[in-house]
Amino acid sequence: MNFLKPGSVVGILGGGQLAKMMSIAASTLGYKVHIYAPEADNIASEVSARFTQGSYDDLDALMKFSADCNVITYEFENIQVETLKKIEKKYVLRPNARALEIAQSRVAEKKFAEKCGAVTAHYVPISKREEIEASIAKLGADAILKSDRLGYDGKGQARIDESTNLSGAWMAVGQRDAILEEYVDFEAEFSVILTRTFEGNVIFWDSSKNVHQHGILKQSSLPAGPLIDSQRSEARKLANRIADELDYIGVLTIEFFATGNGPVFNEMAPRVHNSGHWTIEATVTSQFENHIRAITGMPLGSTRTLSDRIEMENLIGDYTDQLDNIISDNRNHLHLYGKDKIVEGRKMGHVTRLYFD
Ligand code: ADP
Ligand code: MG
Repeated sequence: MNFLKPGSVVGILGGGQLAKMMSIAASTLGYKVHIYAPEADNIASEVSARFTQGSYDDLDALMKFSADCNVITYEFENIQVETLKKIEKKYVLRPNARALEIAQSRVAEKKFAEKCGAVTAHYVPISKREEIEASIAKLGADAILKSDRLGYDGKGQARIDESTNLSGAWMAVGQRDAILEEYVDFEAEFSVILTRTFEGNVIFWDSSKNVHQHGILKQSSLPAGPLIDSQRSEARKLANRIADELDYIGVLTIEFFATGNGPVFNEMAPRVHNSGHWTIEATVTSQFENHIRAITGMPLGSTRTLSDRIEMENLIGDYTDQLDNIISDNRNHLHLYGKDKIVEGRKMGHVTRLYFD
């Protein structure tokens, strides 16, 4: 079989918790991981064989790093696409730069998803403050303004209704290219997480129900309920089409709103995803392992779910009060990411609980 031999080097751009969990999976499969990140004290390099500290703008350092790797992947989504395209010309980058290029812009990813057949919330691209009023007249006053780029965990977003001061909202998104989206009156949220191999084989995990608080994922749970279960197959078809269209290799995540009229595409992430952390303990093969398998050319592991009831809860901000309770419950799997500073709204860890009765 034609996969990277044990001892080969997997390069990861980014040093956060996703990189850390990918690194652990890669190391379990016998690979050496080389982390590239700007911070000296990042959490992924603590569990990785090699580390280069460098800025994402330093092309020379990035090329030198790439030359050391047999395959390169990323957790950090805001690397200049031009840089990744240069890396991709000489080295093996999975998923490819085009997937990242589309996912970096909310407008671009919605247009692309629509081309692939998705239903999205109605939206208008915004490039000037004055365009907001006219767009509200089109979409209605119940809306969300989001920065087109660089937003995550609900950051760079402003909820808009009749009483909103639009200048304040424009400030909140950083006075730069944005997207105005109709507010979707959804019943629930879910994500489709898939892995695609270079031969084009696609495998899915079950879809959990995802609950967000202040724009940050709080909980993912299974069973997801009849509404999500009934929309999963349509959502999977779309996700599969998107992955094929991008000639995607690795784990791809698509977030959906489950509405009374079917699944509505929210956004895509060209990477492993927080709403798939439960796959570590609750499925035969985790999202992290299958991502590494896909990018190194291995066949994929089974994504079968091992428990009837699963809850994954994020530890956001100061979690220290909850620790005693968490570790006292023997159904809990605790993951603390090892970040030095507890900051409000920051993901510090997660807990996965499997029910067996
Ligand atoms: P992020 O990149 O920060 O995850 P999202 O677009 O996924 O940005 O928004 C975060 C959360 O905010 C979503 O999971 C959802 O709960 C809520 N949200 C975002 N867009 C809309 C919308 N158009 N209508 C209703 N809720 C939304
Ligand atoms: Mg999101």
